[in-house]
Amino acid sequence: MSLRPAVFLDRDGTLNEDVGYLSAMSQLTLYPFAIDAVRLLNRAGYLVPMVTNQGGIGMGAIQAPFVDELHAEIDRRLAAGGAHVDGWYSCPHHPEAIIEALRVECHCRKPAPGMAEAAIRDLGIDPARSWMIGDKWIDVQLGHNIGARSILVRTGWGRRVEGARPEGQRVEAIVDDLAAAVALILAEGHAGG
Ligand SMILES: [Mg+2]
Ligand SMILES: [Zn+2]
Repeated sequence: MSLRPAVFLDRDGTLNEDVGYLSAMSQLTLYPFAIDAVRLLNRAGYLVPMVTNQGGIGMGAIQAPFVDELHAEIDRRLAAGGAHVDGWYSCPHHPEAIIEALRVECHCRKPAPGMAEAAIRDLGIDPARSWMIGDKWIDVQLGHNIGARSILVRTGWGRRVEGARPEGQRVEAIVDDLAAAVALILAEGHAGG
């Protein structure tokens, strides 16, 4: 199997509005451009894995089964618009989790690369031809940790953290939102085989 390029996406603040701990379906609001952006990536031949820190599970603020329901609902809304994501990867851990089993320094909480590495194995991804899009510096760092390029979007936390770039932090681009990030990636050329 030949490896394929991917665009890894952060969830909260990138695909949907960041409401803090998203713990009820009524709090789910996809950005108006989200479905079109994902569909464009699908059609250009990019795999689209979602990588989301859900430390709220460890903090007892979000129920793990609800996260699965939420992702199924996002899948339904994307499908209604002819778009899809290729995998959901969530980290339930938190260094200060109140649920003891989840209070660990894991390998999957962004910027650690565990979730993206799992997607790379599961889906057959070539990280060197891939991108990561997110609204926090940990998203940018995750992309670089797997050897991909990274784009920070100004939705969610992006506008607030844009001016607080960590010392020495590089980033390939900072753009207004997911639609602009996808346009930039597609302008680079087709994903190819
Ligand atoms: Mg985010
Ligand atoms: Zn984790």
